[in-house]
Amino acid sequence: MRQFLIVLLSYLCLGSSYADNRTTLYDFRFWTSPERTRIVIDVEKGVRFSIKKDKKKVTLSVKNAKLLSSTYDKLFFKDQRIKKTNIRRDKNTLLFLFKTLGDYTVKSYTLKPNKKYKHHRLVVDLYDKKSKAVKKKTTKQKIKKPLSAKSNKKIILIDPGHGGEDPGAIGYKHSREKYITLKIAKKLAKKINQTKGMKAILTRRGDYYVGLTKRIRIAQANNASLFISIHADAVERRSAKGASVYTLSERGGSTQFARRLERSQNTVNQFGGIENLVDKDKYLNKILWDFSRKDRDIQSQKLGFKILKQMSRIGYLYKKTPQKAGFVVLKTPAIPSVLVETAFISNPNEESRLNNPREQDKIANAIYKGILNYYK
Ligand SMILES: [Zn+2]
Repeated sequence: MRQFLIVLLSYLCLGSSYADNRTTLYDFRFWTSPERTRIVIDVEKGVRFSIKKDKKKVTLSVKNAKLLSSTYDKLFFKDQRIKKTNIRRDKNTLLFLFKTLGDYTVKSYTLKPNKKYKHHRLVVDLYDKKSKAVKKKTTKQKIKKPLSAKSNKKIILIDPGHGGEDPGAIGYKHSREKYITLKIAKKLAKKINQTKGMKAILTRRGDYYVGLTKRIRIAQANNASLFISIHADAVERRSAKGASVYTLSERGGSTQFARRLERSQNTVNQFGGIENLVDKDKYLNKILWDFSRKDRDIQSQKLGFKILKQMSRIGYLYKKTPQKAGFVVLKTPAIPSVLVETAFISNPNEESRLNNPREQDKIANAIYKGILNYYK
């Protein structure tokens, strides 16, 4: 098998005579979420590609492509939607044949480089067909619990920041924010679910990207009473430390710092959440104006103070009062919403704290107590 691979590799890499103007495929990643599988290939600017779909086969053709051996190794993956991957070369075109387990809606587009990815990216999304998924869910829910039993519970939406193609901040020792936020979020959800009259819902349960507006819609669809987004902070200055809490301000950041942070978090179009962005913005604006914002803002401040008070018992505070920022995720109409920067991942001490399960539990517990006190 190994021999065959080497032969095939040299064929794939050296088989063409257009050695100089070929598009190099630098890296290959995939992310599986409950609603889609996302395939990302790092490419060069101006990559020429096309997608063809048969019932259970998706073919991605990349013109004039050159594959690195390190990329090649990553190609043969499987998940809940993709059964098998094959590669073929047809003259100058490299064909990726994905055998799928079902019939999916396929979307493809390219993304520009950003701070985290220096290459242009070619993205292929395989979406579950919507109508079916929605139908299944509603019948399941109906069977599980009658509405009356459900409606008494307070739904707390917990939003682990970043995920999948979006790693979030990278720590001093290279920890990734997306893993830490998910771990803390899951611990927090567990505590909430063990509390009478409360139920936690996570905006993501694994390592995949969820668009920021989608996170908001999850909160709305579930009639959430609180929205809590969990993050870890990062700045260039290694000594910066402590927790901070952000609440929504209609005008955006109140301080220069908040504005900077805002820019780094509002990454809707950098990690493949670009579908109908313009429409969604309009939609968001409309609902923002339709609901009472004032009460929501007061409640968010109150929640922010309660969480900060608890955070001060387990570690440093970076800011002693809730800061205002215009994060997209905080634009949840009528739902009190906060964004918790648990600690600085860019600070070596706090980074190891963030990676320590016991410390993660302490952080989750502090947020949990903050929520309880808010309701008292
Ligand atoms: Zn973050």
